[in-house]
Amino acid sequence: MDGERRRQYLEAIGIDLWVARGSAVADASAITSAPAASAPEALALARGSPAAPPAATAALWESLREEVRTCRKCALHSTRTQGVLGVGPTRADWLVIGEAPGAEEDRRGEPFVGAAGQLLDAMLRAIGLDRKSNVYIANVLKSRPPGNRDPRPEEVAACLPYLVRQIALLEPRIMLAVGRIAAQNLLATDAPLGRLRGRVHHFGERNTPLVVTYHPAYLLRTPSDKRKAWEDLKFARGVYQQLTEGSAHHGHSS
Ligand code: SF4
Repeated sequence: MDGERRRQYLEAIGIDLWVARGSAVADASAITSAPAASAPEALALARGSPAAPPAATAALWESLREEVRTCRKCALHSTRTQGVLGVGPTRADWLVIGEAPGAEEDRRGEPFVGAAGQLLDAMLRAIGLDRKSNVYIANVLKSRPPGNRDPRPEEVAACLPYLVRQIALLEPRIMLAVGRIAAQNLLATDAPLGRLRGRVHHFGERNTPLVVTYHPAYLLRTPSDKRKAWEDLKFARGVYQQLTEGSAHHGHSS
């Protein structure tokens, strides 16, 4: 990605002033100097993965999507329009996980649409990612809680097995939990978001590396924290680059 486009993305996520002050210019160019497309491309070659998943895997995805869409395992089924599984390529290296569908997501059956979705897209593009090619996006909870209230523990407990199945099919290299609710539920902790940022956690049986940052809806309300979100994104990008460099040296066996 060239410098001008990156500057536009950084502006879009609201950190233009910070860039203008100079400190982020070096950081942005450092990311630019490692071509964004090279690692995923190398990985795809190493995996020998076709653009589309094999038919058996595609069938598993389809049945999971339909199960979630019509699921009645917790009380939320009675107030939502549909369960929302997620969106993105099923061989994506990155898995972004938010809290739960909002009103628009509930209607359209897709996570992260609307203003928060646009900000998420801009955040991802700032580190060379694109939800159409290398990011899968989902939520901890697949159905919208009424009035966008916080998910209840029993709802999360009923729904998490879907996410676990999703992760088993997707086999992401890295997970990005956006927002306190997603982070706390995925990591089974009450720790505040500020204490969970800035380090690598691990999730599930596959020990998938997991990095925490703010939810884009929160950043829309609190733009002063966008700068910290940018730090998190660069951190996550660095973790991913280390992973892919490691697999370039040692081979990848998925
Ligand atoms: S939130 Fe999850 S468990 Fe509850 S009805 Fe929706 S899909 Fe089913």
